[in-house]
Amino acid sequence: MNRGFPKDILMSLASFARVRFTQAPTPLHLLPRLSAELGGPDIYIKRDDNTGLALGGNKTRKLEFLIGDALQKGATHIVTQGATQSNHVRQTIAAANRHGLRTTVLLEERVSGAHEDYYRNGNVLLDQILGAAAIETRPAGLDMNAELLTVGERLRAAGELPYLIPGGGSNAIGALGYVVAAHEIIEQADAAGLRIDQVVHATGSTGTQAGLVAGFEAANSHIPVLGISVRAPRDRQEANVRKLARETWALLHARGEFPDDAVQANADYVGGGYGVPTEAMVDAVHLLARTEGILLDPVYSGKGFAGLVDLVRKGRFRKGQNIVFVHTGGAVGLFAYRDTFAPAPAF
Ligand SMILES: *Cc1c(COP(=O)(O)O)cnc(C)c1O
Repeated sequence: MNRGFPKDILMSLASFARVRFTQAPTPLHLLPRLSAELGGPDIYIKRDDNTGLALGGNKTRKLEFLIGDALQKGATHIVTQGATQSNHVRQTIAAANRHGLRTTVLLEERVSGAHEDYYRNGNVLLDQILGAAAIETRPAGLDMNAELLTVGERLRAAGELPYLIPGGGSNAIGALGYVVAAHEIIEQADAAGLRIDQVVHATGSTGTQAGLVAGFEAANSHIPVLGISVRAPRDRQEANVRKLARETWALLHARGEFPDDAVQANADYVGGGYGVPTEAMVDAVHLLARTEGILLDPVYSGKGFAGLVDLVRKGRFRKGQNIVFVHTGGAVGLFAYRDTFAPAPAF
């Protein structure tokens, strides 16, 4: 009922180099207590927080294709970048370790005035345990992809064969991981007899949304996807997702033109900026933890879920509709935001 993937798209997906990291399929299940609490549509969750690589998250699926491509090209060293608390950087070091590749990571100090935990705990702690060859920091405001190129040159001069992965693993090769996820969601929904009326998730570097939308459109399922932006204003986020979705569409050799209108974002829940906590995010993290025992994260899925909760409360979705929230992971980041969730006791 959600329409299957055409054979040519499946064959095209199978033609790319890929290594496996994901414990797939990740569960897709109803959130009964949360749905009852909100009193609106039936809300389901796709557990991409449980992909299984070094505490999981959405970057794992992208890395299957990115590391596959790096190995095919004979790379010896992975170079990538992200914010200080990047989930992508953590998963990239783990993925590279699985194939004996070294990594150099650049952490951009994108969030200013954060507490000590932000610089030392959460993902930063795990990056250190996973053991990148080098963890370098950069001040905010640089062109981080230019920084990647410079580091790539330096490694090349030292006799390495560097493979550069952009922030969030968001290029067309990485987005293929979310074309696969779209296929997985359709198969799970069909097996369960579930009609999906809307998919909602947090969108940042755009690979997740571009891959999902390209996948659902290539499958003619036309399941609408709403990305809740954690950084850019709506117009810019939609333009960025569209650009990558078109590139992903072309890489897949999907027929016809990518339908631009299929890309929809909402930037009403960013608050003070990337990585800056909002009250709605804190409430959303508490709500899902206390109704369903599921942990969201402060930077992405918490804001994405805050958006979903607010839209449900505003009546954007009807009772009887089925909404799927894609949990993209990141709960490791909670440990970097201890002061937001557990202020020091007064005694
Ligand atoms: C990276 C990330 C996102 C955003 O995904 P993009 O593909 O970058 O848009 C959402 N949630 C978490 C937890 C992430 O780490």
